[in-house]
Amino acid sequence: MTTNPLHAPSSALRAAPTRLDVAIVGAGFGGMYAVYKFRQMGLKIQGFEAGGDVGGVWYWNRYPGARVDLPSIDYSFAFSPEIEQEWTWSEQFAAQPELLRYINFVADRLDLRRHIQFNTRVCSAVWDEPRALWVVKTDRGDVYEATYCVMATGPLSVPKDPEIPGLDRYRGRLLRAARWPHEPVRFEGQRVGVIGTGSTGIQIVQEVGKEAGELFVFQRTPSFTMPMRNEALTPDYVAEVKRHYAGIRESARNSAVGGTRPQSTRAFFSVTPNQRRQLLEDAWKNGGLAMLGTFSDLLTNPEANEHVAEFVRGKIGEVVQDPVTAEKLKPRDYPIFARRPCLDTSYYETYNRPNVHLVDCLNDPILEITEKGVRTQSGEVELDVLILATGYDGLTGALLAFDVVGREGRTVNDKWKDGARSHLGLMMEGFPNLFMTTGPNGPAALANIIRISEHDVDWIAAAMTHMAQNGLSTIEPTAETEQRWMDIVFALSQRSLLLKAKTWYVGANVKDKPQGLTLFTGGFAKYREYCTAAAQDGYRAFTFTHAKEAVGA
Ligand code: NAP
Repeated sequence: MTTNPLHAPSSALRAAPTRLDVAIVGAGFGGMYAVYKFRQMGLKIQGFEAGGDVGGVWYWNRYPGARVDLPSIDYSFAFSPEIEQEWTWSEQFAAQPELLRYINFVADRLDLRRHIQFNTRVCSAVWDEPRALWVVKTDRGDVYEATYCVMATGPLSVPKDPEIPGLDRYRGRLLRAARWPHEPVRFEGQRVGVIGTGSTGIQIVQEVGKEAGELFVFQRTPSFTMPMRNEALTPDYVAEVKRHYAGIRESARNSAVGGTRPQSTRAFFSVTPNQRRQLLEDAWKNGGLAMLGTFSDLLTNPEANEHVAEFVRGKIGEVVQDPVTAEKLKPRDYPIFARRPCLDTSYYETYNRPNVHLVDCLNDPILEITEKGVRTQSGEVELDVLILATGYDGLTGALLAFDVVGREGRTVNDKWKDGARSHLGLMMEGFPNLFMTTGPNGPAALANIIRISEHDVDWIAAAMTHMAQNGLSTIEPTAETEQRWMDIVFALSQRSLLLKAKTWYVGANVKDKPQGLTLFTGGFAKYREYCTAAAQDGYRAFTFTHAKEAVGA
């Protein structure tokens, strides 16, 4: 029998804790692929997931209208040509039930569930320096010791209630978009309120508006949303995609967005006003995020950006019949695309329904939640159902929500007190053998999360293999390495209009959170280049210890 050099030594003398090679926290796309990849490498793994099954955001977000805003063919795993051929998407932009069916199909097909403990939260992960391993404790009271810890905890996994007094007083039905019930919810004849008009609120409003007796939309900051123009995929199209998946994936990996969405090198003012207008009209007609890729400088040139914003405001005015409502729906105080652009099927049209009412919370702020509903400055709105679509503690929330303690007792909370720091969004100085997928300071949120997750897991796997082949027991970026990466991230971010809006991208939606753009804005392909270079030069920017150096090894 051959022994795998990556394998943890068996700890026959210690009945508990359970000894692992890799502890994997989270069973969304990143965690699922990590389970698969590390199992293929022959490692002893254990996954932990707070939800009752695989799927991450698609397990939790079952609200009406939940739908992906990237084409389904891009928003799917690329690592298995078999799965690509066996699975058939029905719509260009799949809805949550289909996405969850796909995720379950992958979990069944690869037999992933037996490696994952569901309904289990990791409450602490503590680095044991002398023994060079992570001690992982769960809320079930179980303890694991793992050579490596992989945090596949996702950038949008910690929902955030609004900071409005009285939420616990409300006696009607309170629903959170990010923790939606598994059974269908009916709204016929009900007075329903929705707080929040980001991507989530927009998807909910356009569905619930069709059904509710009365719908009150509490809007603080209006979002720009563009037509999705979703359509059923024809068998011919699907067959064509299946024939060309390898090429589709390759071009996605080499693109800024990790997908097939065209990107232009054309600057906005390089073409005539008539051509610009025509290009924008075409993008509006084509739907999806086409508009963002129509010109190269929409996120860096404020004047170009304002032209496009005005074009979209014009479209809002064309669709919404009541001019006062239309005006309230037009965003005016931040650049278009600086908040996540939303895609809708009938959002603006929804406000033409007599049962749908827009409450402009900039002029009529919410004062409190009462037993019966929502009290704004102008009065109380009584509600049978109140839906919260108030967002997430994005990018950093998941790792700050439990104790992650690295060398010399330093916590991630300490390390990130002035903002998230990492090297490549993958590792942190002071936290040896701890990896993140889609971590802060990587391109998460700005590119296809599945392409990023697969890339990150592959990078982590290569680092582990390098260590096994060279008899190394710990890996950690140096402080200088991390600082160099943070300088790159910061310098790029200063050119980006993403800084000009108060969003979860910059931490503005969470009280007392350090503000700043902790995202790599250079595009997915460039990010891959940096990560590849970091490995190809023999991991020179990392420090390693040899197996024999670990105290007690
Ligand atoms: P979000 O974009 O952060 O929006 C949260 C909304 O809640 C904002 O409109 C915010 O208003 C409002 N809000 C928060 N506290 C409030 C308060 N006290 N009073 C009034 N309004 C309040 O969150 P999200 O819509 O859940 O979207 C988060 C991200 O998830 C998106 O950016 C996207 O990346 C992802 N997502 C994607 C899809 C998709 O693929 N189709 C769907 C849903 C979500 P302010 O802006 O004024 O703070």
